[in-house]
Amino acid sequence: MAKKPAATKKRAATRPSPKKAGARSRKSSAPARSSRKKYVYLFANGKADGDRTMKDLLGGKGSGLAEMTNAGLPVPPGFTITTEACNLWYANHRHLPKTIEDEMLAAVRRLEQVTGAQFGSTENPLLVSVRSGAKFSMPGMMDTILNLGLNDQAVEGLKRRTSNGRFAFDSYRRFIQMFGNVVLEIPKDAFEHEFEAVKAERGARIDTDLGEEALREVVARYKKVVASRTHHPFPQDPFEQLRMSRDAVFRSWNNPRAKQYRRIYEIPDHIGTAVNVQKMVFGNTGERSATGVGFTRNPATGAREFFGEFLVNAQGEDVVAGIRTPQPINELQKVMPHAYQELRDITARLERHYKDVQDFEFTIEEDKLYMLQTRSGKRTGYAAVVIATDLVAERLLTPKEALLLVEPASLSQLLSPVFDPAEWKKMPVATKGLPASPGAASGQAVFTADHAVDWAQQGKKVVLVRKETAPDDIHGMEVAQGVLTATGGMTSHAAVVGRQMGKPSVVGAGALVIDEKNRVVTVNNQTIREGEFVSFDGLTGEVKLGQVATKPSEILQVLAGKMKAEASDIYQRFSKLLSWADKVRTLGIRANADLPDQAELAYAFGARGIGLCRTEHMFFGEGRIEKVQRMILAETEAERRAALAELLPLQRADFYGVLKAMHGEPVTIRTIDPPLHEFLPKREDLMVEVAKLEGGWGGQKELAVKRALLARVEQLHEFNPMLGHRGVRLGITYPEITEMQARAIFEAACQLAKEGIKATPEVMIPLVSHVKELRDQKVIVDRVAAEVMKEQGVKIKYLVGTMIEVPRGAVTADEVATEAEFFSFGTNDLTQLVFGFSRDDAGKFLSVYQEKKILDRDPFQSIDTVGVGGVVAIACEKGRKARPSLKLGVCGEHGGDPSSIHFFHKVGLNYVSASPYRIPVARLAAAQAAMQVKVGD
Ligand code: PEP
Ligand code: MG
Repeated sequence: MAKKPAATKKRAATRPSPKKAGARSRKSSAPARSSRKKYVYLFANGKADGDRTMKDLLGGKGSGLAEMTNAGLPVPPGFTITTEACNLWYANHRHLPKTIEDEMLAAVRRLEQVTGAQFGSTENPLLVSVRSGAKFSMPGMMDTILNLGLNDQAVEGLKRRTSNGRFAFDSYRRFIQMFGNVVLEIPKDAFEHEFEAVKAERGARIDTDLGEEALREVVARYKKVVASRTHHPFPQDPFEQLRMSRDAVFRSWNNPRAKQYRRIYEIPDHIGTAVNVQKMVFGNTGERSATGVGFTRNPATGAREFFGEFLVNAQGEDVVAGIRTPQPINELQKVMPHAYQELRDITARLERHYKDVQDFEFTIEEDKLYMLQTRSGKRTGYAAVVIATDLVAERLLTPKEALLLVEPASLSQLLSPVFDPAEWKKMPVATKGLPASPGAASGQAVFTADHAVDWAQQGKKVVLVRKETAPDDIHGMEVAQGVLTATGGMTSHAAVVGRQMGKPSVVGAGALVIDEKNRVVTVNNQTIREGEFVSFDGLTGEVKLGQVATKPSEILQVLAGKMKAEASDIYQRFSKLLSWADKVRTLGIRANADLPDQAELAYAFGARGIGLCRTEHMFFGEGRIEKVQRMILAETEAERRAALAELLPLQRADFYGVLKAMHGEPVTIRTIDPPLHEFLPKREDLMVEVAKLEGGWGGQKELAVKRALLARVEQLHEFNPMLGHRGVRLGITYPEITEMQARAIFEAACQLAKEGIKATPEVMIPLVSHVKELRDQKVIVDRVAAEVMKEQGVKIKYLVGTMIEVPRGAVTADEVATEAEFFSFGTNDLTQLVFGFSRDDAGKFLSVYQEKKILDRDPFQSIDTVGVGGVVAIACEKGRKARPSLKLGVCGEHGGDPSSIHFFHKVGLNYVSASPYRIPVARLAAAQAAMQVKVGD
């Protein structure tokens, strides 16, 4: 479960510039002097300065250690240096003020008191571990140092105390190696080379064959490595070791892998890491000692089973490093039954205390168990649903609390077709693109939509591989297992339509070089010819060359009536969780659906209404495009009306189906939006055809037709189609199109009414920037509605409203609202127009913007709350002032994005509208928004 901090916090998530940092440091150090701000928090002997509520300050690990200490659990004593100290260190040119250094020294003294051990003692030396610990878990991304405090004297003390010279010197050599590598940045190889040399000289086969004498020599050699690489002897002063290690951990907050991890999981850069200094306990003193990690439940499946691994006679890093294969945790019962039982009891207690699955680390030293960490365990979407519903059944959580244990976006995993994980792992990753629509896709590569259809008709499973997709590829997308494109971003056509269809899609996989003519794709020196298998995972964006078997998820099988609900445990849990969400949320949930089958599915997923029916998508159905083209090519209004008359029954039938599928819930139908040339063949293709025909390759009649088509295409050609003749501008110039669409809508609604089925259409005019545009179209809609109702003798309740997707429309929302009965924010276009970023081209530079931290996230995926969101807020306020009953919704892609949903809840929308497969995500996110809490907060 990725921990996602609140969007609003993330806005301020950039590290301060040195100038600002100075200002910040002055500001934050001032109270340190006056009110003695605390930077070091102790935990020892059943009492800690901190607790579980202090994750921001102490990090996840530090707050967990404090909480466990307060609960009387066996936690080695220690202290946590706060995240604020880390930020101060950065702001202060990588130094801590003396006051904090003194505070840390006092904490060490206190630790010496409670443990009875001293730094550098030859009798009873204090040894500590130094570990990172940010608010959000970043496993393995930052640095750790163990056995700190060992020096030439202390090692003798450790030998004396443990009566084990081998162990003492093994610990010392481990420490020098770790410190040398992490703090002094000496490559590991330099140490390993010496270790292997000593082993070879002594004929030792494995590490444990080396005795005390040999290890003394290893230590001596390691110290030489340090001296020659750094021109300084290995530091013997434990305080110096501690300061240097602490600073190395602070430094590791900004190592490349930690930064990359934060980017992926959207963890802000400015929060910093805490440092935990803790008395060492040893899992490597012999056969009565061990170390391990585990979960209180299975994090992949959610099953209620103790889950984890351990190693006898080992230190923590051995488990992680994979040098030795750990044993399943249940076997601990056989070798150390007492410690095992105590571990079971403690972790069960922790799970009850935190009311969530715990991911824990432990060490057993000479049969005595110590807890080193506890935190909420990361889990798959599947496991999250199982665990949340189980914890309610076990009465540990209320249904409302359980909703917070599931990250909304992770629900998509439950709907996607699945790969067999073992098979998937076997194949190497060929390339990676943007994970546009989740799901597993595997099939034979085809490079055109027509081929996809042909092949699918022959019963083949195909993956449509395109440079990009366009509306006229829709038939190919429909039959494909998935869609893979080389260009495009998260709101590109392939991505939007892919999500809407629930079609696995990976877009913008830039390494793909597609040669459509020769039907071959190259990717990183490998080639795929048409018909060869390609597979990808729409959740991760990974693409592989080869075949992997997939199957539909159980939930979809139940929704499609192919499986009984009672037969699917996961379906029952999924629908139970969402029914809890429905009780909590105040936002309505609608669907973006264009066709009756999509609407039915959306209803089954829990949508109660359609927020956007893009009518033009209906124009691409079988036998329709020719009629649409005839309408576009018409020279006179009469010709155009004749072509529209042919389209009327087809649209009416679609609207009938969509309205019926929604069982009386409101259905927002948008009048035609895209520029007309999108319905015509490509200009370049037509030029080639005309040239061929002119060369005598065909008949004169065909030539005349193509020439006319080309002439019209040239006439319609636009330099900026997205800013051109589209949206309401089409309805204004061709009112007969609006007329036909309105007639189709009201005839369908009247027909349903006559059949006793309620229908509630809402007619929506796109791209309005001026109230007069809307007024012009509304007059037509109202007139046609009145005519149809009179003809049919039926009364239908309907609304006329507009999309707010042009900044002028938003800023003049008070005027627009005098005509509009509802607003639906088209945040795809609104983002495009507020930023001035072309939604079709921004993919080329947005990743660089994110890398350079100019933008935290792709604003086409997650709403830019300050800029685009600011415009939305203005429109809401002005619109509602002018018309208090104004209904407000959003139908851009952001309507299915959890953090955007939080924003829409806050700004007071009535509903969000999302593609059918994101409806469950939206239901849960809306419930979490209503609780004003986000998972990870
Ligand atoms: C929008 O602009 O947000 C919208 C929903 O319309 P489209 O994506 O069809 O332009
Ligand atoms: Mg739009």
